[in-house]
Amino acid sequence: MNGSVFSARSLTKTYVSGETEVRALRGVDLEIAAGEVVVLLGPSGSGKSTLLNIMGGLDQATSGQLFFGDQELTSLDDKELTAYRRQHVGFVFQFYNLMPSLTAYENVLLVTEISDDPMHPDEALALVGLEERMHHFPAQLSGGEQQRVAIARAIAKRPDVLLCDEPTGALDSKTGIRVIEALLSINARFGTTTLIITHNASIQNVADRVLFFTDGQISNVRKNQARRAAAELNW
Ligand code: ADP
Repeated sequence: MNGSVFSARSLTKTYVSGETEVRALRGVDLEIAAGEVVVLLGPSGSGKSTLLNIMGGLDQATSGQLFFGDQELTSLDDKELTAYRRQHVGFVFQFYNLMPSLTAYENVLLVTEISDDPMHPDEALALVGLEERMHHFPAQLSGGEQQRVAIARAIAKRPDVLLCDEPTGALDSKTGIRVIEALLSINARFGTTTLIITHNASIQNVADRVLFFTDGQISNVRKNQARRAAAELNW
């Protein structure tokens, strides 16, 4: 790796449906360093999810380049992108997408059974503070607990990067904070590079950087030196 986990150059994405074209990304340049916690902020429709999906190998860019370390993601075909996703990326979405007929433990087990070097589901669930509740079904857990199961599932395969799209969007602010704490403690423990789309102000304050999006471009960047310094003191 060249020091950056991700580097993007002039990345664009245009969606075409019939006669209409939507220019979702209009030339994004960025570098994300290993271990960073980065928040993506901006109005609805400004391209945040599109960028996250391309970084996660769920979608293909229209032009420009995106590297994961030395690997150029923008030159991979669908099969290679699937391998990249499976090896390197954990996703957390607004809605937890847990299997309702499986316990928390079994939901995590589904992923660890198909991973190369996974954690034990017990360990992943303990990391998000759910060791006591691992044999509960999703319907027996609060929204915040369900999201923490989803985080445990995402990190159990030890991904290099965790991509979170509105992870606290369906939660009240107090419950949301526990979810954020779970993400930060995983970042501190494993150095997992973490990108989070959120409107939640408390997450913005704990990120290393906030990238502001306007009309498919990064229009501003705010660095939070204090967060990294505080995190280092705790290590
Ligand atoms: P954000 O995450 O900032 O709300 P998105 O990346 O979801 O923004 O969307 C950026 C633009 O791309 C929007 O105008 C949206 O409607 C459009 N868009 C996103 N996904 C698709 C798609 N699959 N097909 C067509 N247009 C899309």
